[in-house]
Amino acid sequence: MTVSIAAHHDHDHAACVADVLARAEACCDASGARLTPLRRRVLQTLAQSHVPLGAYDLVERLGTDGERPPPMSVYRALDFLVAEGLAHRIESRNAFLACGRAHEADDVIVFLICERCGLTDEVASHAIGRDIAWATRAAGFTPRTPVLEIAGTCARCRAQLAAAATGATSGD
Ligand SMILES: [Zn+2]
Ligand SMILES: [Zn+2]
Ligand SMILES: [Zn+2]
Repeated sequence: MTVSIAAHHDHDHAACVADVLARAEACCDASGARLTPLRRRVLQTLAQSHVPLGAYDLVERLGTDGERPPPMSVYRALDFLVAEGLAHRIESRNAFLACGRAHEADDVIVFLICERCGLTDEVASHAIGRDIAWATRAAGFTPRTPVLEIAGTCARCRAQLAAAATGATSGD
């Protein structure tokens, strides 16, 4: 996917990348996990995009801003980041997204995936999480953190579509 990151600069993106890294450092300090330079670089590269990146894309991007690491090390770094809750795997896209927030045990993570530009946001729902926890416990089942992926249109694309519709008299 060739969506420019700049297309999503409607917020202080540098702060948003810094937040992800600061949280990762704090989490690893607390858990004793090691945020190695490669793991940090992988997380930083993921955080630079609000469009989930495939593992291959990620290796390519890492290669453009420094020495290109072996793909296997990148995959292992991704496994680490996902296991530590610092990144998420978006199953429907087979891609990864940095996470800057702490999740409660009973939360459901809801990914809002734009079908037009790929922008992916996440929201957490405690209410849905509680319902799922009850239902799964009643079945004697121990779930992983449940995840919902919802495809649709992001606010920005919706605004662009609305603007295009009102200007459609010029014929495009
Ligand atoms: Zn951002
Ligand atoms: Zn998250
Ligand atoms: Zn969009």
